Amino acid sequence: YDAKRSGSQVVRYDADRHGDSSGRLALVEELRAGIAGGELVLHHQPQVDVETRRTVGVEALVRWQHPTRGLLAPVHFLPLAEVHGLMGVLTDAVLAQSIAQAAAWHRTGRDLRISVNLSASNLLDTGLPGRVAELLELHALPPSALVLEVTETVLLSDPDRSLAVVGALTELGAGVSIDDFGTGYASLTYLHQLPVGELKLDRSFTADLLTDSRAAAIVASTIRLAHQLGLRVVAEGVEDPATLLHLRALDCDESQGYLHSPPLPAAELEQWLDCQDGRRERDLDGARPAL
Ligand code: C2E
Ligand code: MG
Ligand code: MG
Ligand code: MG
Repeated sequence: YDAKRSGSQVVRYDADRHGDSSGRLALVEELRAGIAGGELVLHHQPQVDVETRRTVGVEALVRWQHPTRGLLAPVHFLPLAEVHGLMGVLTDAVLAQSIAQAAAWHRTGRDLRISVNLSASNLLDTGLPGRVAELLELHALPPSALVLEVTETVLLSDPDRSLAVVGALTELGAGVSIDDFGTGYASLTYLHQLPVGELKLDRSFTADLLTDSRAAAIVASTIRLAHQLGLRVVAEGVEDPATLLHLRALDCDESQGYLHSPPLPAAELEQWLDCQDGRRERDLDGARPAL
């Protein structure tokens, strides 16, 4: 035992680490129990056709209804789930809820697509496409009504394995979308090699569209090339009518963002859809240049 090395700094460092990690581990265990106990809830954000102003899809965004801490946003628990091996069960729960919800909407005549986010570890899980197929069959949802969102960085981390999973998902007939496009390393030149049907323009580009001519040039050429490759383009983070108008001029297909609606619980989304016709008029009024 070396007395000289047991300085207070070392002890404090260890104590901090211990306190920190035991807190984290407690939260991990709460999350594990919460997933099994049905504490994950989905909010749904509409994806609006830029031309017709109709809602054609929704993105399912997970929240954790924690028994004491309230409703937690993904940033507070997804990183933990990824590091501690819970992403598989988390995604299975999200997929089960999303597919059941979309199927219920389809039965009432609302033929919405539903988009579900996948994480890095999901794309290395070769059993995932089979479980997706079972859920689609169980709920009798047409595979084309499901879109899986993956980010470029995730695709490129282990391209061989993730492309096998992505390929199997598209073989089922589900759609695959590149989320947050423009923030990672993917380039348009390799897009044609991927079996994807949709690009989601990251909201950093959407936000700068009106004020930064370089961002506008990137968006314009991305949309043009995506269309030439047969891909649909969804703009994320659309917050104002002028941006929507600009996106329409650039031939962007779909718009998602606070302009239309924040992510909502299913029942509230249904109410929102019910009064969407009136809302469509209002958005148009806002987007019409003053004469
Ligand atoms: P994302 O997939 O890019 O989702 C869009 C995020 O932007 C959502 O945040 C949404 O609430 C937010 N957003 C939507 N419209 C606007 C807008 O007009 N302005 C601004 N500033 N933000 C807007 P959220 O729900 O906190 O989700 C954050 C991220 O967490 C998602 O980013 C996605 O990467 C991840 N995530 C969410 N749900 C899931 C899930 O079920 N599974 C996995 N693996 N990841 C998920
Ligand atoms: Mg997404
Ligand atoms: Mg995104
Ligand atoms: Mg984004």
